[in-house]
Amino acid sequence: MKKGPLPPDPLLLINFLSLNSWTFKDGDLLVNRNGVRIVPHKGAESTTLIQPSDDKPLSLADFDSVRFIGKGNGGTVSLVQHKSTGQFFALKVIQMNIEESARKNIVRELKINRSSQCPYIVICYQSFFDNGVISIILEYMDGGSLADFLNKVNMVPEPYLAAISKKVLKGLWYLHHEKHIIHRDLKPSNLLINHRGEVKITDFGVSTILGSTSSVADSFVGTYVYMSPERISGGHYGYKSDIWSLGLIMLECATGHFPFSSPQPMGWTCYYELMETIVGQPAPRAPSDLYSPEFCSFISSCIKKDPKERLSAYELMEHPFIKMYDHLDIDLAMYFTSVGPTLATR
Ligand code: ATP
Ligand code: MG
Repeated sequence: MKKGPLPPDPLLLINFLSLNSWTFKDGDLLVNRNGVRIVPHKGAESTTLIQPSDDKPLSLADFDSVRFIGKGNGGTVSLVQHKSTGQFFALKVIQMNIEESARKNIVRELKINRSSQCPYIVICYQSFFDNGVISIILEYMDGGSLADFLNKVNMVPEPYLAAISKKVLKGLWYLHHEKHIIHRDLKPSNLLINHRGEVKITDFGVSTILGSTSSVADSFVGTYVYMSPERISGGHYGYKSDIWSLGLIMLECATGHFPFSSPQPMGWTCYYELMETIVGQPAPRAPSDLYSPEFCSFISSCIKKDPKERLSAYELMEHPFIKMYDHLDIDLAMYFTSVGPTLATR
């Protein structure tokens, strides 16, 4: 009989899983809390794996659906597996019944997404429009979003925030300085994380797409809360608008709550109330008795009412807060996986 590799000892496997975020991979076999999966052997990968630059068009029929991941304002996201390579992807599906001209704009917008190659931006592999539905094949980020993570940990300590901010700033620097793109919808659910400790920006351009359809018009929650005052009040806005959002996100991660609070005890009741608060109230700050002067200064450099006073992504990368915990060698991989299982997919 032909000798194959020995099957893993179940007890050893259980110990291994509990010590290693519930993920075990041996050859083609991948086991974790989500089940057992066959993934292609490393040796076979190099020639067959789908690359972002591949021209061969993909279609929905090429994928098996694994599970539903989440729902946003404009669409749904699911984990899918490519049938022939075994690769995992996130499939974002946006339902829209629109005219040909709007469709062309969207396809143009998605092409910009696709041409982005940066370790701090979620890879967009392909997108296609079929039967009133836009499908976008994205890199799967097995830790979910920073919003999901924050729900589990409630607050993120400063050293981790510095490490996360550094990565987001590198992504923003790439978008602003290399691609000349304003994200427009930076928020915790559009920052994705994985078991390798990576943090990547997603969904730039998607807000423009969603803006061209009426399907999201009524849903203000999540769409406007991180928007800068100059955008809300309909003025000119630029890259610094994303910096405002970054400041709010980091302050929310530090304190565990959204930095603006509603005058009503039951929370925001309508878009206008939120709008008035963001435009009319003073910029929120990090409490100086709870956080380092460097963190407080970083937040203030991002959350300035006047965009001209905000620092750019490039300037913020040099801010003392970003460097102050470098000596600790922060391990984001360990931190992100400490809260529970992720589905490792190579
Ligand atoms: P919006 O529609 O305004 O962007 P949203 O970001 O919450 O809101 P989606 O972008 O549709 O909505 O994403 C829904 C959820 O799916 C996210 O919160 C995140 O948890 C998950 N998700 C999105 N993209 C990926 C991805 N590439 N990999 C893994 N999970 C993802
Ligand atoms: Mg999103």
